Amino acid sequence: MHNGFTRSEALYADAKRLMPGGVNSPVRAFRNVGMTPVFIARGQGARVWDEDGNEYIDYVMSWGALILGHAHPRVVNAIQEAAARGTSFGAPTVVETEMARLLVEALPSVEVVRMVNSGTEATMSALRLARGYTKKSKILKFEGSYHGHADSLLIKAGSGVAALGLPDSPGVPETVAQNTITCPYNDLDSVQLAFERYGDDIAAVIVEPVAGNMGVVPPAPGFLEGLREITRRYGALLIFDEVITGFRVDYRGAQGKYGVLPDLTCLGKVIGGGLPVGAYGGREEIMRQVAPDGPVYQAGTLSGNPLAMTAGVTTLRELGQGGVYEDLERKAARLAEGMAQNAEEAGIPYCLNRVGSLVGFFFTGERVIDYATARTADTERFARYFRLLLERGVYIPPSQFEGMFVSVAHTDADIDRTLEVHREVLKRL
Ligand code: PMP
Repeated sequence: MHNGFTRSEALYADAKRLMPGGVNSPVRAFRNVGMTPVFIARGQGARVWDEDGNEYIDYVMSWGALILGHAHPRVVNAIQEAAARGTSFGAPTVVETEMARLLVEALPSVEVVRMVNSGTEATMSALRLARGYTKKSKILKFEGSYHGHADSLLIKAGSGVAALGLPDSPGVPETVAQNTITCPYNDLDSVQLAFERYGDDIAAVIVEPVAGNMGVVPPAPGFLEGLREITRRYGALLIFDEVITGFRVDYRGAQGKYGVLPDLTCLGKVIGGGLPVGAYGGREEIMRQVAPDGPVYQAGTLSGNPLAMTAGVTTLRELGQGGVYEDLERKAARLAEGMAQNAEEAGIPYCLNRVGSLVGFFFTGERVIDYATARTADTERFARYFRLLLERGVYIPPSQFEGMFVSVAHTDADIDRTLEVHREVLKRL
């Protein structure tokens, strides 16, 4: 039985006085699902408990960071041991080299890598590097993709920008926005046209190799290969933003899964094991342009932080053991197939997109292949659905334009329980 949200509501009233929207990142405020957010007290495995004592099966999983689940014992132990030795030095530590080695060994296109503190820093730095290396100024991104909140990337962005229906952000100077070209996801013809028009001045194409910020949208066959071919032809760099997909869809990232090698790769989420981490890396010749080897400046007081590196390295080692991705695939398929079947039975139009443990369930009868088709989803129906699930102990991302994350910690019993709740909720919509 659900205890209600009384305590979360009181805590939120207090938080709202002190922070914009009462939160430190917009989607957490639950604005687009028309309720106040739940305050999380703790997590263990696939579960979280809120401040009212309600228990949930969690499919937010810190927005994809926690692929092993909450408070994984080996990760927690490793962090505790590292903390006892000191939390930050601002000097090289061995664990940074270990992290770099794991990333370089896993990701087929990455030869040299720099650690940062968030996905935003990773993409922002990769763009600067691409511009510094190519000496060109424009970048091309896709509508409904989110690459963090750097100025050049907040144009037609997905995630919270999409969820809140916000226009391109105030505060991004027109002169910056002019240098960002946007194309529909999965639309190679429009990329080709953009290159015909601006090709001499495009430094890079940045793409989520599986889009995860307009809901989940897989790359159409040939899309990533086409981007590789066009960028090579025009001397632009191809940047894969693997902040979500890295170590999520495959240990070798989406680049390994699809066999398309970008020039630069951005990482975050999973590689931090739940601590604040990002990274960018790629071909040695390009990465040697970064200071102090080269002139492109980028730095960070807490970059390569020993706690964060320890959490990340411990997580990656767990993921490197055999069978993890097969298990994730099997569980996520079971979830996705069950959700599709429930929707069929309830007679509700839906589109289900899944890549590995990334699951996107849209309330639309259209096939979702890009932002325009994602936007056909019924967001009011989603808001009711979200609340009904929450009241029954299933916590999914509070937006139609985010995917669900299945973790190693989810059991078959968790999936079955989720499907049972899902079936009941769809009937009530
Ligand atoms: N790129 C992608 C693909 C993301 O999904 C996100 C965040 N969800 C980011 C970049 C930004 O990462 P961060 O929130 O760590 O700054």
